Amino acid sequence: MASIFTRIVNGEIPSAKLYEDDLTLAFLDINPASRGHTLVICKQELSGLLDLTPELVVAVAQTTRKVARAVVEAFQPDGFNIVQNNGKAAGQVVFHYHVHIIPRWDGDRVMTSWKPGSATPDELQASAAAIRTALSGGTA
Ligand code: AMP
Repeated sequence: MASIFTRIVNGEIPSAKLYEDDLTLAFLDINPASRGHTLVICKQELSGLLDLTPELVVAVAQTTRKVARAVVEAFQPDGFNIVQNNGKAAGQVVFHYHVHIIPRWDGDRVMTSWKPGSATPDELQASAAAIRTALSGGTA
């Protein structure tokens, strides 16, 4: 079954569209965390970042930058978060790749940051080694 975002791309359900090109579409989130909360999607129905081709990553990043600039001009927030959830554990609800642009105002408490943890230098080095191994394997 097509995702809810594919149905928006196909015009089967309404959305507050902001921008569209061959590969990407931007529209307002239906349950905005703040005024101007925007979603930028890859039109092709792919679940997460790792499913995108490099070309699609670039296309979504360019649209995100373009639309974020417009959101900032329209609403003059003090800042904005770019959020992109991958997988249920990370809070992804719609499994069709999308980036959130969430305008922020000082003291708005719209989102809280992660809780800083701790790691020993050895643990950091072990984690870095594992990731470097994956990178040198050529699959990542
Ligand atoms: P995520 O948790 O990253 O998967 O976020 C999915 C987002 O999609 C949520 O913020 C929803 O409010 C938003 N959303 C779901 N359905 C629609 C819709 N029909 N139009 C606009 N935004 C939607």
